[in-house]
Amino acid sequence: MAREMIKIEKLNKSFGDLQVLKNIDMTIHESDVVCLVGSSGSGKSTLLRCINYLEKKNSGKIIIEGEQIETSTHNINEVRQKIGMVFQHFNLFPHMTVLENVIEAPVQVKKVSKDTAKKEAMALLRKVGLEDKADVYPSKLSGGQKQRVAIARALAMKPDIMLFDEPTSALDPELVGEVLLTMKELAEEGMTMIIVTHEMSFAREVADWIFFMHEGNILERGTPEQIFDNPKEERTREFFSSQF
Ligand code: ADP
Ligand code: MG
Repeated sequence: MAREMIKIEKLNKSFGDLQVLKNIDMTIHESDVVCLVGSSGSGKSTLLRCINYLEKKNSGKIIIEGEQIETSTHNINEVRQKIGMVFQHFNLFPHMTVLENVIEAPVQVKKVSKDTAKKEAMALLRKVGLEDKADVYPSKLSGGQKQRVAIARALAMKPDIMLFDEPTSALDPELVGEVLLTMKELAEEGMTMIIVTHEMSFAREVADWIFFMHEGNILERGTPEQIFDNPKEERTREFFSSQF
């Protein structure tokens, strides 16, 4: 049985009176690729943000690689180093070149030497197909290229887990494929990944598991075949019939 990378028990999160996550339970094993799907406002982003403590949970357990993480007893910055995150809006540093963006966290946070960080960054840029853009500023890149840099930048911290929050939603349709391909390659290398996405054909092809979220619950979960072809819940059925 593969190692448990993320285990969540009875996770609750509210914003004021609005309960956004309701007793979420989930377990994600090493090299699992989970696509988190569901309508807008169902709590997908909040769930990802709770996992790396960008949002503070109200109650419940978050166990990362076997260790129950609490802000009172853990340095959250160290926990975050294990978990890379890629957002819809890239969030690259505009005043830094591509290479500078990728080496920033390893050099500043992990105190890796600049030479080593540069070597590793170039290898990552090669991997995402952007070796030739190392010295360019983000403003000169297409959205798809920016997102691939954002992925390289997250990987530069050597995370064990990658979280993606609608990484292709802000892209022109013709640029979506190159980013999905990069993510697919990462999945094939065995990265543990949670991906919030509306790209259902990608999810079907790449995900080991699909989690369908509805109103703060994981209403249904299973393999892509189970969830897409044979959903048990009427809500799941309705959601997918609205997606195609
Ligand atoms: P999804 O990513 O599935 O679209 P979100 O997790 O972004 O859903 O949001 C779930 C619910 O929580 C929505 O009703 C949203 O308006 C609300 N919400 C999210 N973030 C905040 C916040 N920082 N403050 C108040 N409400 C929020
Ligand atoms: Mg969201």
